[in-house]
Amino acid sequence: MSMLSPFKGTFALTSPRGYRTLNGTREYHKGIDLVGKEDATVYAIADGTVYTLYEQNGFGNYIRQHTADGKRIYYGHLKSFIAKGGSFVKKGQPLGVMGATGHAFGEHLHLELRPAGSSSSSLDICEFTKIPNTFGTYCGKPQGEFSKDKTVDMLMQCGIVDSENRENWELMLSGKAPLNQQYVRILFERCCKKLLEKGVSA
Ligand SMILES: [Zn+2]
Repeated sequence: MSMLSPFKGTFALTSPRGYRTLNGTREYHKGIDLVGKEDATVYAIADGTVYTLYEQNGFGNYIRQHTADGKRIYYGHLKSFIAKGGSFVKKGQPLGVMGATGHAFGEHLHLELRPAGSSSSSLDICEFTKIPNTFGTYCGKPQGEFSKDKTVDMLMQCGIVDSENRENWELMLSGKAPLNQQYVRILFERCCKKLLEKGVSA
């Protein structure tokens, strides 16, 4: 399965899931903190009914999404909501805008997964999304697939693809020519890194 991303394009993981020390207090961070680098819009990573909620000293403006198999996805610290509370939102549709509401030091998205009916236990959001639980910059698409056009654009910007072989790449990426997915993924990730270094999406 490919990565489920709540952001379009590149995003950074700024705080992994697990124990961390904040202001001298050791606590278990149940989710992951992500920062969208190209687009502050937060997209649903699954299908499900969403609830728009507020928690002053916690998640701030946040969305809780209920999946068909009973999981709860939390999208915390939003600046504003796009999805309507009580509505059914499909994977890849916009939920809100990344912000710093509630208990947050800067703009980021807190993404967390919980089993139904539990406020204390959490599930492994990284296992669910396939986002590595380590600091770093990643590329994603809300539907968990490559953005085909964007991939070619990025490959061109990095000088890996030039205008002469652009057509071939587009054929490959559209599935009309044989393609090594793993190879393209590696190239794509390398490009994202390069673009970030160049400050294109910073
Ligand atoms: Zn967090």
